[in-house]
Amino acid sequence: MPELPEVETVCRQLEPEIEGRRIERLEVLDGRWTRPAPAAKVESAVAGRTIEALGRRGKYLLLALDGEMTLVMHLRMTGNLVLVEGDERVDPSEGMRLYEGERSSSERHLRARFELDDGRQLWFTDPRRFGEAFLIDDAGLEARFAKLGVEPLSADFTAEGLGRRAAGRTAPLKSFLLDQAHIAGVGNIYADEALFRARLHPLSPAGSMRPEHLVALRDGVVEALEAGLTHGGASIDDYRDARGEKGGMQNEFLVHTREGEPCPSCGGPIARIVVSGRSTYYCPSCQVRLRKRPRRRAT
Ligand SMILES: [Zn+2]
Repeated sequence: MPELPEVETVCRQLEPEIEGRRIERLEVLDGRWTRPAPAAKVESAVAGRTIEALGRRGKYLLLALDGEMTLVMHLRMTGNLVLVEGDERVDPSEGMRLYEGERSSSERHLRARFELDDGRQLWFTDPRRFGEAFLIDDAGLEARFAKLGVEPLSADFTAEGLGRRAAGRTAPLKSFLLDQAHIAGVGNIYADEALFRARLHPLSPAGSMRPEHLVALRDGVVEALEAGLTHGGASIDDYRDARGEKGGMQNEFLVHTREGEPCPSCGGPIARIVVSGRSTYYCPSCQVRLRKRPRRRAT
């Protein structure tokens, strides 16, 4: 499932390519993509508009259009946004030449297609079809994302702010990190990687962190996300970047999906548990399980 580094990779690749381009036509092939809005309504509202910017908020892609409108897209489980050259008969997700009449896997999973004024197309492909899109005016945009947590790669993400959000919470740290209302864009992969870097056990209660733990977790989250960006995101399942290529982060995981393999720090075996219904990987030796409340200093 694409998280912040995967969505940001797509955003950084696409923005210089599509900024200033006019959308000649949007074709929605699956009405569920725009639900509850009717696909035809979104198609006609988007057609003819110029792309002013492509941004990101949490795991959402924000396609800013002229006329103070934004098309917000979420890739969910298996969505990809891929730039396709005109009538090229190449599968954008596999990079393979296609024979006459053959349908590529991207074509089979195509849910929406933007035709740009330079002849290129932007494809939203999505085998499991949980991805979604909605149109919103700029006035509504801020309110729509008001409850989304802090952007972890912004200067607003501080140890002090993290402490305020975590204070009094008994939820395990892993669940706390997955909650988009606290930190936007962190999912299962980068939560595990961040907790390992911070040397904190995923089942530690969020409210049990002392100041040094808050600093370690803040740094761990930032370092884990930046590693993901450096390697072009992680392709465990279906994720492809805007050029249809796999990311490389899956080869760089410190603990995620590495059950039984040696911990990169101590050499002991990495363990797997389930937290909030999600597979969670950690090192039982390196990651400290905090007590429920911070211990009072002896006076
Ligand atoms: Zn270890």
